[in-house]
Amino acid sequence: SAEDVLVVNNIEVVYHDVILVLKGVSLRVPQGRIVTLLGTNGAGKTTTLKAVSGLLLTEDGAVRKGSVELQGRRIESTPAEEIVRRGVVQVLEGRRIFKHLTVEENLRVGLFARRSRGAVVREDLDRVYHYFPRLSELRGRLAGYASGGEQQMLAIGRALMLHPTLLLLDEPSLGLAPLLVQEIFGIVERINREEGTTILLVEQNARMALRTAHYGYIMENGRIVLEGESAWLRENPDVKEFYLGLT
Ligand code: ATP
Repeated sequence: SAEDVLVVNNIEVVYHDVILVLKGVSLRVPQGRIVTLLGTNGAGKTTTLKAVSGLLLTEDGAVRKGSVELQGRRIESTPAEEIVRRGVVQVLEGRRIFKHLTVEENLRVGLFARRSRGAVVREDLDRVYHYFPRLSELRGRLAGYASGGEQQMLAIGRALMLHPTLLLLDEPSLGLAPLLVQEIFGIVERINREEGTTILLVEQNARMALRTAHYGYIMENGRIVLEGESAWLRENPDVKEFYLGLT
């Protein structure tokens, strides 16, 4: 529908022309929603994100069937830089911050391409510090000295500076203590609520993801095997047994 920011329609993805990793994946992300993509290691979640952000192409991967539509326009063969320009910002697994720049320099770094005016940059920085007060305290420190959780906050904050049309989050909980995971998911939820940011969230932590997202897809071995409202998925017996660890 017109309110879908992203529509992935039955895509097959191959790496190096031969390795079939996605075997017909379809999903939708409506405007203003948080949608989560769940599944175990190697299910194809990151590959799905890369098919959306264009990063597949840089790894000798390709969408060989199906389509990816961003606001109604096909992007499955569009280069990553162009997709970023159209407002898709991916926060990568493992964060990729610049360790030798300060926290605030890391936040400014993404803006070089945008030629923003000083006042606008200040406003955007303040917006990030509003969601992540911890980053404000650390603004003059080298990012390399920040903890894992702070670096994750920085990676999300940097994405926020770009006012994404679609924010792609790849395992924000990875390697973080439970309390910090809760804090970060709480902030993601607030960003969605207060900014209206549309989010596609890839996670292995199904419990937290289904508390945060409105809708979820579960992926196994390159296919979507189950989808539904988060509240419904949380009560589904198979999801409980295999993903939430409750029987
Ligand atoms: P993870 O949580 O480990 O990131 P995932 O669900 O995101 O898992 P993907 O990273 O998408 O899974 O990987 C899906 C499959 O594709 C795996 O079997 C992986 O080995 C393979 N794969 C991923 N990247 C490449 C690549 N560049 N070349 C070849 N095969 C790849």
